[in-house]
Amino acid sequence: MKCRVCRGKAVIQVRRHHANFCKEHFVEHVRRQVERTINDFDMFGPGDRLVLGVSGGKDSLALWDILTHLGYQVDGVYLHLGIGEYSSDSLRLSQEFARSRGLSLKVVDLPDQYDFSVPEAASASHRSPCSACGLSKRYILNRMAETSGYDVLVMGHNLDDEAATLFSNVLQWNADYLGRQRPVLPATDQGLARKVKPLIRVAERETAAYAVLLGIDYEVEECPMASGNTLNRYKEWLNRLEEQSPGIKASFLFGFFERGAEHFDPGEGVELRQCSFCGQPTTGEVCAFCKLQKLTISRRPELTVRS
Ligand code: SF4
Ligand code: ZN
Ligand code: ZN
Repeated sequence: MKCRVCRGKAVIQVRRHHANFCKEHFVEHVRRQVERTINDFDMFGPGDRLVLGVSGGKDSLALWDILTHLGYQVDGVYLHLGIGEYSSDSLRLSQEFARSRGLSLKVVDLPDQYDFSVPEAASASHRSPCSACGLSKRYILNRMAETSGYDVLVMGHNLDDEAATLFSNVLQWNADYLGRQRPVLPATDQGLARKVKPLIRVAERETAAYAVLLGIDYEVEECPMASGNTLNRYKEWLNRLEEQSPGIKASFLFGFFERGAEHFDPGEGVELRQCSFCGQPTTGEVCAFCKLQKLTISRRPELTVRS
């Protein structure tokens, strides 16, 4: 197996590009894919203040590395979800990554600052943990980007994540979500930050290979709350299709951006107001995050002190 570029020994095969790469040219290939995505979708420019949602996993740490190599100045924000050892390990790995490269990482601690954890919120609200987690991440990352004066909130969703999400939204014809599944969501006057996803041309196994080849130490354990996650099941199905037809995931996702996304309203027409508790944008009187927080705290069993 020879590298497409230098004919040296290849370390990875990328079937949808009909190509094999050595370490050096694979790293260059991945960085070029991200650069192309940023330019094609006009995501941001060198003067923009960028903040990246960092989880300690391969995607966000690889993306932080790639953006830094492309010359962007990017701060990170880590959200501590209160998921036991998984959260403490991924925080440590994120902090080590930032420290070793002299990057700035802000930490938002859900249990300390908002008085609840994802597992607790899931059991109090009867939501799935991933639903409580997703809601909390969207709220806190948006709030951080807006209140700290960042121009763009950067997310590390990869090709597999976005193809599986699109598959799920199409299966249910979820028009609201389809409208918001674009590589760039513009900022709004009502307090939603500009949100971009520069990693959507890079598959999950490629971000993992990028991180391993460059010695990036990332959280390899799966989140203990992930079992039963529907998106993971859709990813497995799409992987089987990809096995038979290399490139099918990318053509599904990018075909939607080119031909389908325009038919769904990303929510510009939706009237947003300020949440009466926190002031963040919401469609109702109280935002979903404040409702979740209050419900979780109200269902907490009282501590009884025995004498
Ligand atoms: Fe959150 Fe679910 Fe991912 Fe765990 S698996 S980090 S609960 S979204
Ligand atoms: Zn090469
Ligand atoms: Zn609120």
